[in-house]
Amino acid sequence: MSRTVKIVILFIAVIAVGWGIGKYTSPSPSASIEEGASAGAGSDLQAPPKSSSEPSVEPSPELSPEPSAVASDAPEAPGTGSEPTAAPSDKPDNSGSQASAEPSPAATAKPTDAGSSGSGDPAAEQTAAEPDSMTVMVNKQYQLPDGYKPADLVYPDVPFIFSEKIEKRMMRKTAAGALERMFAGAKKDGVYLAGVSAYRSEKTQTTLFNNYVARDGEEKARTYSAVPGHSEHQTGLAIDVSGSDGKCAAESCFGGTKEADWLAAHAAEYGFIIRYPEGKQGITGYMYEPWHIRYVGQEIAKEIAAKGITLEEYYDAVPVSK
Ligand SMILES: [Zn+2]
Repeated sequence: MSRTVKIVILFIAVIAVGWGIGKYTSPSPSASIEEGASAGAGSDLQAPPKSSSEPSVEPSPELSPEPSAVASDAPEAPGTGSEPTAAPSDKPDNSGSQASAEPSPAATAKPTDAGSSGSGDPAAEQTAAEPDSMTVMVNKQYQLPDGYKPADLVYPDVPFIFSEKIEKRMMRKTAAGALERMFAGAKKDGVYLAGVSAYRSEKTQTTLFNNYVARDGEEKARTYSAVPGHSEHQTGLAIDVSGSDGKCAAESCFGGTKEADWLAAHAAEYGFIIRYPEGKQGITGYMYEPWHIRYVGQEIAKEIAAKGITLEEYYDAVPVSK
């Protein structure tokens, strides 16, 4: 090996060692490697932390105001998923909207008045504030105004178990139309319904009730007949229905007939509810009447049917006085 070669090798060695010392002395070898490793990854990782911190900031402003605002608005939407309890409290606010005759909970009796009466007596009789509402609640506690008569009574074009065009054949126009569609729907299913008794004036109810009282005594009469002013038949929105043969018309033997079963299964599709369901006497104040249906509009009828509740429960207006 020539001297020149030795010198060159030495020179290279010196440079190499010098480079190595320079590299490994300034920062500690272990530190530099870890930092390098972490720095390399860190540059990639730091972006995500930034981006992940950004979303974590963004969602909070989105979550706080908007969804809560939506949620608090939602109960105002009639019929949707709103809680029955929301219905009565919304009512007074929207008292001006009942003119639309929409089946909105906003337009109904006034369970709120019961709360605001201050009497503390839940059994105190109340007068329905909006008797013309399709969703008015009339029961043993809530009565119609004295002498109330709906202005839009018509004769629904459906068979009744009698042929005369008399008072009890009438219903309010909207309910009459729904009844016609329901009878037609039943017919398609091979079920032939007939009307038994629909609208009933306060005067007629008075005569009827007094006759029942004379026969059975007032206490018993009250279990199956309404005190004048407290009958749903006076709203023009209720009707007693039977099979076209008229058997068991407004009698308990109607229960279990195919007509009764059809009504229970399909009435809500047309906006009617079985107003006095079985096992709910403690709430409605009336024994089971599978023949008595009441128009409230499809939305509410479907909700009441799906939940297996009564109109009183829908409005959170229980208990009802006996
Ligand atoms: Zn009835």
